[in-house]
Amino acid sequence: MELECICANCFEFISPGRWNLGYRLCLSCGEKYAKGDPLPKPVKAPLTKEQIKAANEICAIENAARKKAVKKLADEHERSIKRRKLKELERLKKKYGEK
Ligand SMILES: [Zn+2]
Repeated sequence: MELECICANCFEFISPGRWNLGYRLCLSCGEKYAKGDPLPKPVKAPLTKEQIKAANEICAIENAARKKAVKKLADEHERSIKRRKLKELERLKKKYGEK
């Protein structure tokens, strides 16, 4: 099973946004790594199947939520463009009279 969105060092969840930027360390480990500080001890025990399943489920939920949010923003943007176009059309109609 593929491990997704989990820190390579401490196995904390990494936000999909951070993950997609190519980070494979969580924020806390990443900061320590950037400063040259010693990283916290990696978790020795391998994740259980349940933990991996839960992690992947959380990632899937986060991804779905993000996609939904992006879609909502895009829809709102489109609506605002339509509203602006309608307003402009009304303005032009008033200015030049309807034909
Ligand atoms: Zn970490």
